[in-house]
Amino acid sequence: MTNRPRTVLLGRQGAGKGTQAARLATHYGVPHLSTGDIFRDAIKKESPLGLAAAGFMDRGELIPDDVVLGVIRDLFAAGDVADGFVFDGFPRTAAQGRELGVILETHGVALDLVIDLEVSTEIVLHRLAGRRVCTGCGATYHVDAPPTQPWVCDGCGGAVVQREDDTEAAIARRLELYEVETAPLSDFYRQLGLLVTVDGVGSAEEVSGRLVAAVDAAMDGQSAAAG
Ligand code: AMP
Repeated sequence: MTNRPRTVLLGRQGAGKGTQAARLATHYGVPHLSTGDIFRDAIKKESPLGLAAAGFMDRGELIPDDVVLGVIRDLFAAGDVADGFVFDGFPRTAAQGRELGVILETHGVALDLVIDLEVSTEIVLHRLAGRRVCTGCGATYHVDAPPTQPWVCDGCGGAVVQREDDTEAAIARRLELYEVETAPLSDFYRQLGLLVTVDGVGSAEEVSGRLVAAVDAAMDGQSAAAG
């Protein structure tokens, strides 16, 4: 039995998915795969994928399923996710969720659990409006908790800025899309018996502790079931 989980982190924008997915991935020694980061990187490099994604992303719209699924199929084909992963920001629509199931089956693997990181809309609005991100390493800050030197990353010295899609209009659109397109995925995974809800309010350490406990419990449950 592997202790390297195959897991998906669901949650509203601003719930702390990025931070927590990175911590979980480090804890279990598996890749952290953020489709948002993959698209931001492609836009920076001005690759064909970046050119296809940029307009959607700036407006806070979802990138079309076929583009997103092409990226995911490439990850599996390259073997990058053969032995465990934490997906962050994918799947984001029912079609992506269904297709992920097909891709996993093709590769003879299955999800161990799907975590819904729960944080209220009121709290995420405050977090997103004040969020600032390092252009160098991706570390996140908040106007209420800035880096030591004004807007210079404590970790890598990069410039800390507001994300293009953290404007008021784009935030509102992304949260609306979350309710319409992504929230139904919770029911989809609940029906498959894979969903675990974790309270995302608290310090990064507190939330990480809850997440690791949830993953360990799911993995232990499977070991026990397998005898
Ligand atoms: P995130 O960093 O996860 O908030 O993603 C930022 C933006 O990237 C989203 O607002 C979408 O425009 C795009 N994006 C990331 N992941 C997906 C996905 N799975 N499906 C569609 N669009 C996505």
